[in-house]
Amino acid sequence: MKHGCRYGTHRVIEPAGTLPQPALKLDNSTEIFDNEVLIDVITLNIDSASYTQIKNACGADPERMRSMISSIVRERGKMQNPVTGSGGMLIGKVMAIGPDFPDKKLKVGDKIATLVSLSLTPLNLKRIIHLDPESDQVDVEAQAILFESGIFSVLPEDLPEKLALAVLDVAGAPAQVDRLVQEGDTVCILGGGGKSGVLCCYQAMKNVGPYGKVIVVEYAEQNAARIRDLGLATHVIVADATQVMDVYNKVTEITGPRGCDVTINNVNVPDTEMTSILITKGQGLIYFFSMATSFTKAALGAEGIGKDLKLIVGNGYAKGHADLSLNILRESREIRELFEKLYV
Ligand code: NAP
Repeated sequence: MKHGCRYGTHRVIEPAGTLPQPALKLDNSTEIFDNEVLIDVITLNIDSASYTQIKNACGADPERMRSMISSIVRERGKMQNPVTGSGGMLIGKVMAIGPDFPDKKLKVGDKIATLVSLSLTPLNLKRIIHLDPESDQVDVEAQAILFESGIFSVLPEDLPEKLALAVLDVAGAPAQVDRLVQEGDTVCILGGGGKSGVLCCYQAMKNVGPYGKVIVVEYAEQNAARIRDLGLATHVIVADATQVMDVYNKVTEITGPRGCDVTINNVNVPDTEMTSILITKGQGLIYFFSMATSFTKAALGAEGIGKDLKLIVGNGYAKGHADLSLNILRESREIRELFEKLYV
């Protein structure tokens, strides 16, 4: 065996000189380097923006979706959607650990969730066992590689593994909300009725306290109703987040013309950058967790209307994010029941 690059550059086939995430093609051979881990994959949790794009492109036909996913992995050696650029994450069982892998507590046979994106994870996909167009969790027969720098979490014993996978996929979002939202803030969560949205709402309500506001903008009445029923926001607006002026008018009816202190963007569709920008106060802050965000549109759009804002790219990793997000399920029986119904 050989020692590979800590960041996995030894697996990049093309273009030479790039890291695995932006690379077009990775070496997905299952013979590991000294500082890698080989994982027997159970389930892929495909990122929502990616899965939605695949589903739309295939007319929600499961056979076409299977073949599109298989061909992406065949071409790229990883599950990175060429349109959205995004990946997702996986759960699986550790099959082999190179002698130089730094975490000495990890054991062969442990069940883990990788906390690095599928968009940089070498994946050798043999077969798709189960795919449901309504669920972004896809059961597979496959092997994956974790690099020396790859973060992971051993799956907790008190939660079903698919539930943990669903939550860990979006763990960065509530962890960032915890960092960014202060007591008394007015916060707007676009796409607040989805998976990451619900976790963000819970965390935002906790952080703003009794004098703050949490406003959810959600497309589907059913998802909006969930937020109302669970008391996860102070205000719920049913609207299409791509309709800038409509959302701006509805949000500012609640906030006044000043707008929100913090906006969290959790939608899974493009063209919501300007909505986020318009509803946020000058010198306020926007966290774009959505992978459908165009950072060109956001940056040029803010400049275009002369708005000085902090625009934060949705880094999926924040220190302690796995524990924080799993603890939400432990703290809130209602969210746990909802997630068990929707994602397990
Ligand atoms: P999700 O469960 O599908 O939630 C998305 C929510 O947005 C849904 O409730 C959806 O409503 C709503 N929505 C869609 N179009 C809308 C519109 N036009 N107006 C208002 N609401 C709308 O997705 P998720 O798993 O929480 O992921 C959310 C986003 O985060 C995705 O873009 C995903 O790619 C991204 N993500 C980022 C990272 C990262 O590391 N930064 C990691 C994981 C995921 P409907 O159900 O009615 O469509």
